Amino acid sequence: MKWSETYIPTLREDPAEAEIVSHKLLVRAGYIRKLAAGVYNYLPLMQRVLTKISNIVREEMNAAGAQEILMPVLHPAELWQQSGRWQTIGKELMRTKDRHDRDLVLGGTHEEVVTNLIKGEVRSYRQLPLNLYQIQNKFRDEIRPRFGLMRGREFIMKDAYSFDRDEESFKISYQKMIDAYSKTFSRCGLETKIVESDTGAMGGKAAHEFMVIVDTEGGENIIFYCDKCDYAANMDKASSISETETEKEDAQKPLQKVATPGAKTVEEVTAFLNVSAKKLVKTLLYKADGEIVAAMIRGDRQINEIKLKNSLKCIDLEMADAPMVEKITKAAVGFAGPVGLKNVKIIADEEISQMKNFVTGANQDNYHFINVNVGRDVKIDSVSEIRNAQTGERCPRCKKGVLLTAKGIEVGNTFMLGTKYSESLGASFIDQNGKEKPFIMGSYGIGITRTAQAAVEKFHDERGIIWPASIAPLSVEILPLNVNDDKQREVAFQIYRKMKERDVEVLIDDRDERAGVKFNDADLVGLPLRINVGEKSLKEDKVEIVVRRTKEVISIKPEEALEKCVELLGSL
Ligand code: ATP
Ligand code: MG
Repeated sequence: MKWSETYIPTLREDPAEAEIVSHKLLVRAGYIRKLAAGVYNYLPLMQRVLTKISNIVREEMNAAGAQEILMPVLHPAELWQQSGRWQTIGKELMRTKDRHDRDLVLGGTHEEVVTNLIKGEVRSYRQLPLNLYQIQNKFRDEIRPRFGLMRGREFIMKDAYSFDRDEESFKISYQKMIDAYSKTFSRCGLETKIVESDTGAMGGKAAHEFMVIVDTEGGENIIFYCDKCDYAANMDKASSISETETEKEDAQKPLQKVATPGAKTVEEVTAFLNVSAKKLVKTLLYKADGEIVAAMIRGDRQINEIKLKNSLKCIDLEMADAPMVEKITKAAVGFAGPVGLKNVKIIADEEISQMKNFVTGANQDNYHFINVNVGRDVKIDSVSEIRNAQTGERCPRCKKGVLLTAKGIEVGNTFMLGTKYSESLGASFIDQNGKEKPFIMGSYGIGITRTAQAAVEKFHDERGIIWPASIAPLSVEILPLNVNDDKQREVAFQIYRKMKERDVEVLIDDRDERAGVKFNDADLVGLPLRINVGEKSLKEDKVEIVVRRTKEVISIKPEEALEKCVELLGSL
């Protein structure tokens, strides 16, 4: 490929809209261009990366026994109504209408469609297990599309769906996908950590996510993992053993209302009353499917809204706004408390039930209660773990280790769906005893575009991208420093031709540009190897191979460059 004939619009400056390094680099290096928020054009180099990742994914899916199909993007709304997700996914579901005003969905995932596809056709246990997958553009009206390809509204995903006759067989199918995923990502040059995750709107029993651990801002997910055992979970799932400082004296003290003039925040109230945040209970008001709910959580804790949502089994959850809080508590924001709160469902984090004589707002401006006790002063409707775990807490699995945190990019996930979709859509088969049974299903996603960007987030330096060799758009860039020099042109093009004959994917920077500009672009674009062909080294009948990752420079005879590159690529 000749640079002069390829569309690689590199930029000198970082694009203003990009916040994280991988997004900046992909735009600057001429891989992607934005059309609208969360909607991108993939330019020639990007398209090559995406093809490489897709091919690795395909090979591993096929090897695991899955079969590639292609399902429609446009779905009739009825299917989504039947599964219930027309409601439960809410605004993220990309909806449209046809000319007859019929509701349609632009698919963001295909459980409904694939279940409908096999319904009535796969009738016997003899046709199972079955695993169907596709690679396709997906649509999701994300609340906050951001970080380039990381969270798009249109993106490319591989989605697979397994159908099994019983739990035993399903376990094998699920494990096959887990193994295929680990292999897939490691072939893409990415080590992944498998973490337990919340099943969310997908429903089902359990789920796992594949995370690329990064130390940059692109790691949107906080992962908790144990330093002793193999426990690992994302923030919405991670649980922990709380070490509440239970009071020595377990006597309940008399409830008392105290003035706390101007003190609203946890910091202000605890400073004013001279108590630790662990003795204070925050009361946060939410609207859950229209109903008002008060959530109680220790002062030093953060509430996890996914856990709260799961516990309440609601679809819509939003924090009550200030006017609503004032109406319900009859006090300014900052003084809400559970004592005497009427017509509000009260949910408490499980830690609260171990606490005694704590501090809460008094539902009155500038007042708090001290010595509040559950049961005597507050009637709690439900208790559940609704807090975020924190670094340093005990592991919930081995109970010995300590939880540590890392930042991760979720590149893939796997869901144990059970019979949620087969039952709601009426898809069943006849088992070996002649009995009708719903399929046991699994669904498995890999973000192709997100994986590509995750590789950039993980592998780059101050000069640009450093692609893992297996997914680099091309393997080698030949860089004649001065294309107007006959000798340099001749040597460069000779290596170029030989490489093409050997099927080494090669780009030659044949542009009439200053060498400095070309070096900058080469580092930015980030192919694994570069061959500099310059006047100085040619005087000694040498060219220079530069390894992008290590910056190692190998001086070598032009006719030996091809073999050396092939050898180096094998080890990259
Ligand atoms: P997230 O928690 O990041 O929103 P998700 O749980 O919604 O992801 P799935 O529905 O399981 O993700 O989709 C499968 C894979 O598709 C994800 O693991 C991720 O790699 C990718 N993906 C999901 N949403 C997006 C998006 N908006 N943009 C790009 N890739 C995405
Ligand atoms: Mg999502």
